Amino acid sequence: MYSTNSSAAFQVSNESNNGLLFIPSSLPGFTQSGVYSRIDASGNHSIYQCDGVLCEVTDEERICPVCGQKMHIKSSRSITLRHLPFGFTYIHITVKVQRLFCENGHHTQMRSIPFRAQKHTITTALESYIEDLLASGCYTLKEIAERTGVGAHLVGEIDKARLSRLYTDQTELGPVLKKPDTCSRYLAIDEFKLHNGHKYATHIIDLETGHVLWIARGK
Ligand SMILES: [Zn+2]
Repeated sequence: MYSTNSSAAFQVSNESNNGLLFIPSSLPGFTQSGVYSRIDASGNHSIYQCDGVLCEVTDEERICPVCGQKMHIKSSRSITLRHLPFGFTYIHITVKVQRLFCENGHHTQMRSIPFRAQKHTITTALESYIEDLLASGCYTLKEIAERTGVGAHLVGEIDKARLSRLYTDQTELGPVLKKPDTCSRYLAIDEFKLHNGHKYATHIIDLETGHVLWIARGK
């Protein structure tokens, strides 16, 4: 059950739904068939595992991009995406996705999942949430990973893409840093010990705002 209109009313089924919340899920086209709870492999987190299917294949989706004829449904496979956590419980969405093929042998493709983040096995809603947490500047990558149930490496990749989108322009020669709106007036430089105490890192900060401008290994 979903709507792209934030002020829309939501139709709740008359069947028995004692104890269930019906709220927008940000999962357009997803129909849930069941849910069960389990504990993750580490034993530290509970997971709501939600299974379901995508809406019917539309005529538009079935058009072969090569010959324009109607493609057929070949088979389907299940894909699991991580979704917005519910408190400390992670949500996993497992959706059956059909494979389409052209009888003339031109083309085979998996249906695209409208709520899947472009490059990751997470939902677009979870990706936006991670970006919001990163933009707040209040949490480390590890804290966000723990809160959302994805790996710190993935949080880092999302942050890199977010920063690149915000602070670089795409040119023929590749990404180029945007010119900042303001420049720092006073810079401060300092070095500090890393974890084992034998290695150092150096950082440069804006003395007025305290923002870290540059950081690197070594003195
Ligand atoms: Zn074709």
